[in-house]
Amino acid sequence: MYRFSGSAMGTQYTVKVVELPAAVLPTALGEDIVRLLGEVDTKMSTYRSDSELSRFNDARSTQWIPVSQEMITVVDEALRVSTMTQGAFDITVGPLVDIWGFGPTLRPERIPAKLEIDSELARVGFRHVHTRENPPALKKDLEEIYIDLSAIAKGYAVDKVADHLDGLEISNYMIEVGGELRLKGYNTHRIPWKIAVERPAPEVRAIHSVIQPGDKGVATSGDYRNYFEQEGKRYSHTIDPRSGLPIDHSLASVTVIADTAMYADAMATAFMVIGSTEGYSLAQRNNLAVFFVSKSATGFTEQATPAFSRYFLANE
Ligand code: FAD
Repeated sequence: MYRFSGSAMGTQYTVKVVELPAAVLPTALGEDIVRLLGEVDTKMSTYRSDSELSRFNDARSTQWIPVSQEMITVVDEALRVSTMTQGAFDITVGPLVDIWGFGPTLRPERIPAKLEIDSELARVGFRHVHTRENPPALKKDLEEIYIDLSAIAKGYAVDKVADHLDGLEISNYMIEVGGELRLKGYNTHRIPWKIAVERPAPEVRAIHSVIQPGDKGVATSGDYRNYFEQEGKRYSHTIDPRSGLPIDHSLASVTVIADTAMYADAMATAFMVIGSTEGYSLAQRNNLAVFFVSKSATGFTEQATPAFSRYFLANE
């Protein structure tokens, strides 16, 4: 087992590889991983003023602005998820994330005034963003549009590392960046990787269930890590772009299994906005593997789509 870990994109990453092809040197592979994650950061971070995304956000222009092909790949997928979820997932939500204090501009924990929320809502809406394939470029209908890729670009970074390992003909790996995962082949016990789904409790890290997804992407979104409380009410970092308010329902976490970590990442956030009832029927209609864990008076209740249930490991 070779293990590569470190920090990237404001979170931690771990890459585990079982057996390396003779031509692949561990130190070189470790350097490749740092470089690949760094490329996503320099393109898609809102925490760096010199990133490609920040330059687009800061441009007071509604003209086509040249960007990398990777940016188009991610924004296209984000717009596809926005359309599928009627705007529950929306990368133009950045200004709302910021005024609620969950973005790069550190703010005191406070509840913004309704007037402030309404004025930021006026510059939110995924339909105001357009992509062009060739040459790759982005355009916004309103100069003040501010894109936040925090709910999809980590998943993209995981897929980017997975594609690189596939290119090196590495057959057994587990890649994790800030809770988004891609799995392939077997662990050191020669069985498909097992993943623990966390109990969504803020005060304790405990396992809720164990899954064995096979060669898939896995992402979990929840309201139990990144939130603030005021007068006994919890304000989550997941914002409903339609109301401008943090989500306010009993859903504590959502885990999505899909072919890519990028899609799983975006859909997990979308389901956190939609909630478990509507989310379960959307997941069913699209035959998606989704696991909802909701807070209840006595602890947690859970609901897994049939497409997800097949991955549970019994008695783990
Ligand atoms: P997820 O559920 O995956 O994403 C929630 C985040 O998505 C929210 O924090 C908000 O930003 C956004 N969001 C909220 N509601 C919606 C919605 N309805 N639709 C779409 N998006 C929504 N953090 C740092 O502290 N320092 C850094 O330097 C840093 N650099 C980063 C660089 C990159 C390239 C990226 C992608 C992120 C970076 N981050 C940084 C943010 C951090 O890594 C996580 O992305 C963030 O904490 C959210 O990830 P999550 O898995 O916790 O939640």
